[in-house]
Amino acid sequence: MASLTDLIPVVNKLQDIVTNTNLTDLDLPLLTVIGSQSAGKSSVLENIVGKDFLPRGTGIVTRRPLILQLINIQPDDPMVHKTGFETDLSNPSEFNLEDHLRSTNKNFDKTPTEWGEFLHIPDKRFYNFDQIRKEIENETARIAGKNKGISRIPINLKVYSPNVLNLTLVDLPGLTKIPIGDQPTDIERQIKNLILEYISKPNSIILAVSPANVDLVNSESLKLARQVDPQGKRTVGILSKLDLMDHGTNALDILTGKVYPLKLGFVGVVNRSQQDISVNKGLDESLRAEEDFFKNHPVYKNISNRCGTAYLAKTLNKTLMQHIRERLPDIKAKLNTLMGQTEQELASYGDMNIVSKENRGSLVLQMMNRFANNFINSIEGNSSEISTKELCGGARIYYLYYEVFGSSLRSINPVANLSVHDIRTAIRNSTGPRPSLFVPELAFDLLVKPQIKLLEAPSHRCVELVYEELMKICHNCGSAELSRYPKMQTKLIEVVSELLRERLGPTTKYVESLIDIHRAYINTNHPNFVGAAAAMASVVEERQKQKAKESSTRIGKQAASHDMHSSPSPVSNGSQTVVENGGLRSHKASDASSALEELRETEKKNGQLNSSHQQHTQSHTGGEKDSFLNFFFGKDQTSSNSATSPSQSQSHTSESPQLVPFQYPTETGTLQFNVPVQARLEQQMEHLMMQEDENMSEREQLESELIRRLIVSYFGIVREMIQDQVPKAIMFLLVNYTKETVQNTLVQKLYNESLFDELLFEDENLSQEREKCEKLLRTYREAANVISDVV
Ligand code: GDP
Ligand code: MG
Repeated sequence: MASLTDLIPVVNKLQDIVTNTNLTDLDLPLLTVIGSQSAGKSSVLENIVGKDFLPRGTGIVTRRPLILQLINIQPDDPMVHKTGFETDLSNPSEFNLEDHLRSTNKNFDKTPTEWGEFLHIPDKRFYNFDQIRKEIENETARIAGKNKGISRIPINLKVYSPNVLNLTLVDLPGLTKIPIGDQPTDIERQIKNLILEYISKPNSIILAVSPANVDLVNSESLKLARQVDPQGKRTVGILSKLDLMDHGTNALDILTGKVYPLKLGFVGVVNRSQQDISVNKGLDESLRAEEDFFKNHPVYKNISNRCGTAYLAKTLNKTLMQHIRERLPDIKAKLNTLMGQTEQELASYGDMNIVSKENRGSLVLQMMNRFANNFINSIEGNSSEISTKELCGGARIYYLYYEVFGSSLRSINPVANLSVHDIRTAIRNSTGPRPSLFVPELAFDLLVKPQIKLLEAPSHRCVELVYEELMKICHNCGSAELSRYPKMQTKLIEVVSELLRERLGPTTKYVESLIDIHRAYINTNHPNFVGAAAAMASVVEERQKQKAKESSTRIGKQAASHDMHSSPSPVSNGSQTVVENGGLRSHKASDASSALEELRETEKKNGQLNSSHQQHTQSHTGGEKDSFLNFFFGKDQTSSNSATSPSQSQSHTSESPQLVPFQYPTETGTLQFNVPVQARLEQQMEHLMMQEDENMSEREQLESELIRRLIVSYFGIVREMIQDQVPKAIMFLLVNYTKETVQNTLVQKLYNESLFDELLFEDENLSQEREKCEKLLRTYREAANVISDVV
């Protein structure tokens, strides 16, 4: 046997495994022939392939690399009978053995089973190998020119045949020294590089051809092979032209490995001579002649079983087999992994015949319970599949409450849409035709209610977000088992979604009424509410500070310093609310009451000590009729005289001041005291109210500011309550409710004998997948058997 046919079945089986199992390529080695020009490279290659189709001859013939891919194909392969190709069969001038057989043997299959295809001529099959040789010659000339030129662009040829091994062979131009014809001056270097490119690949088996009629020490091929394979592990030495050695000389020492060490050894061959080629000596005939040559040679007859093309084929067989064995552990390991994975996948599809009439109910119930439990566990954070990528389930709901909802509430400015003008109008309207004596409570009530409404939108959104999250959870409650029954899964999701939808309405309604409840009654008695008195005190304090600053800049440094010392803050810092972030920090009512006491004290002192300051202030504010304090407490002639009386015009007006009760709630009871109000003041206020003047009076400014602060304070209280109550309501009405009822609802709606068939309808894709999986597993097991047979 001349070619590598022994390996065909093994390699084919392995190749099948490789292609059917998505394993990496079997990665068979390349056989690369190298050697000096006319050493016999093409001849050797042809012998190995067992086909007569390569251009050979004296002079430079191989001028482009030929990558020859042999593909084993069975005669019954559908590819053999595939039509639509251009063929060379119609050419009557070409006639070969197959044509001859076809014409003489009626049983001979009309379709030849061996052909070649060139990469550069797709869709054409060459059934005639002489034509292949011609095409190689033409294609060489096309790229490399007609005159000895060399090109590194390879010619790719595939040969399909039942008689070849799946293997790639490379025929290369021969090594030359002197440029001829079109060859460039550095032709030697160029060819060397071209050869090195192919033989340096670790899976390249180097067939280093040296002609026996040239001294081996001059062998270019061995020299190059040594560069890339210094230990001679993948180099086969081939000694050609043994028939052309000088009489009396022989290559015995080389062939027995005494001259040059190569692990794979040297093989002597006799190829067809130019004479043989010229007379069209057949390949079989020449192989027989070669065999005779060694058997009858006086020197080589003793080693004739280790000589010749047949022995070379054996050596290559062994080398390739070795290579395959080296690849086997890797293939085996991969095969094992694949088998494990496939078994696992198969298990995930569940057992085919698990569903019977008797166990249908329990199966449905079991899946239902699992679904409900998954739902509950996701909410409670006990889920076995906790994501590390994003917040989910219960944690996400918590995040919605405290981050999303909380921050959207915090971002509301309690007086955002309230202009000073709005506040003033509200104050004016709420007092009606009567003059207001006190802080216009009605105006506060009127203004704060729509502000509370601002809390509604974020509360709604919070309900929606939690609802959406629950929906998401319910869509993710499936299991591998459940994916087998898509209808069941759809129904489960449907029922839980419906349950959630049903709860959305009541929850939203409840949250809405929470807001309405807070709007229904404005509880100014709330312990955390700043209260009019304290708010007013802080407003006044700031006003006075501001005025002090303004006047001090007017009357100079001396007066200013006097001011600072003689007009202390009406309320001590320790007990007063401090304005912070646009809102009033809540404080204890007892603080407020003590603040009031202190305030009154201070008022007294102020009046006695610093009437000049009051005048300054008055002149600055444009002769304003009364201060807010004055308006609020009236003018107590006995205790505070001119203290809070800012204008000269007012100080003389009231002879008998009215006393009006003022109440201030404290923790221990109600602080009550009478405040006098001037009749004159009322008149003036009335007058002021009716003025169209857009510039507000000081009183109005103070009032507005006071109302604003009261709104901020009260809004803060309601906001806190809403932030607390809305999540509680959602938990109670939506989350916990669905959690507690999900199981029963599912049973109620789905546990029904008449639904079982539909629910347990198995996914068709899935059963197909399972079949595919089973088939794959069988293939893997067979492959594993093949592999253990190979070794
Ligand atoms: P390549 O240039 O290395 O591919 O060599 P070829 O295979 O084209 O052969 C070059 C020439 O040497 C051809 O004419 C062949 O017939 C001849 N030749 C090759 N090998 C042998 C051999 O073993 N004995 C004889 N007598 N001639 C050979
Ligand atoms: Mg050649």
